[in-house]
Amino acid sequence: MGGSGKFFVGGNWKCNGNSESIKKLVDDLNSAKLEDDVDVVVAPPFVYIPQVVSTLTKRIDVAGQNSWTGKGGAFTGEISADMLADVGSKWVILGHSERRHILGESSDTIGKKSAYAATKDLGIIACVGEKLEERESGRTLDVVSDQLQAFADSLPDWSNVVIAYEPVWAIGTGKVATPEQAQEVHAAIRKWLSEKVSPEVASKTRIIYGGSVNGPNSSELAKREDIDGFLVGGASLKGPEFATIINSVT
Ligand code: PGA
Repeated sequence: MGGSGKFFVGGNWKCNGNSESIKKLVDDLNSAKLEDDVDVVVAPPFVYIPQVVSTLTKRIDVAGQNSWTGKGGAFTGEISADMLADVGSKWVILGHSERRHILGESSDTIGKKSAYAATKDLGIIACVGEKLEERESGRTLDVVSDQLQAFADSLPDWSNVVIAYEPVWAIGTGKVATPEQAQEVHAAIRKWLSEKVSPEVASKTRIIYGGSVNGPNSSELAKREDIDGFLVGGASLKGPEFATIINSVT
C-alpha cells in the first residue's frame, strides 16, 4: 500500500450478465465475508445499475463503466454522469483500454469525460496502460505518462480519483503482469504524480492494478509497496473468487 486510504478493489463486469445472473452475483456478494479495510466498487452494465444499487446490502459502491463528456442531450447511446449519480452510482470508470482501443476513444475525449464526471462528484477510476508492442519497444512509461497527463489536464483535483494501471496485454488474456512488472510501473506512476502534480497527491492517490487478476495471483500482487488494490474483470463475475481477491489485502 503506497497511497493513503483503504485498499481498493473494483469489479468491472463489462458487457456481461442478465437479471438472473446479476441477482446471483449480488446474492453471493451479500453473503460473502469481506474485509472491512477494503473499499469495494462494482461496475455493472448501465441497465442493471438500479437493480444492483437496490439489492446490494453490503457497503459496496456502484460505478458506471463510462459516461458522456457533458450533461446530455442529442447523443444517442450515451449516458451522462448526471444519470449515473441519479441512480445511485458513486464512481465511474474512464479511459478503460476497451473504450480506447475497441471504441476508439482518445485521451482528449477521456479528459473531457473526466472533467465533467468530477463536477457531479463521481469518483473516477482513471485507467492507463500500454499495448504489447508499446511495452516491447520500451515505450511503456511514455504511453502511461501521456495518458496520465490527459487526466491531469482535465481533473480539478485528485481527491476522488483512483488510478488503474492495466497493461492491455494482460487484460482478459490470462497473462497477468508479474508483481515486479506491476510494481515497477506503479512506482513510476507515483513518481510521475510527485513530479507533475504534487508530492502530496502522489502519497495520497491509490494506484490499482488490473489485467488477469484472480483468486490465486492476487495476494502476491497485493504485497507490493505501490499496489493499492485491483480492477478485476473476468474474476469479478464469480462472487466467491471476487471475495477472495477483496480479502487478499495483507
Ligand atoms: P480482466 O479485466 O481481469 O478480465 O483481465 C480487467 C479489466 O479490464 O478491468
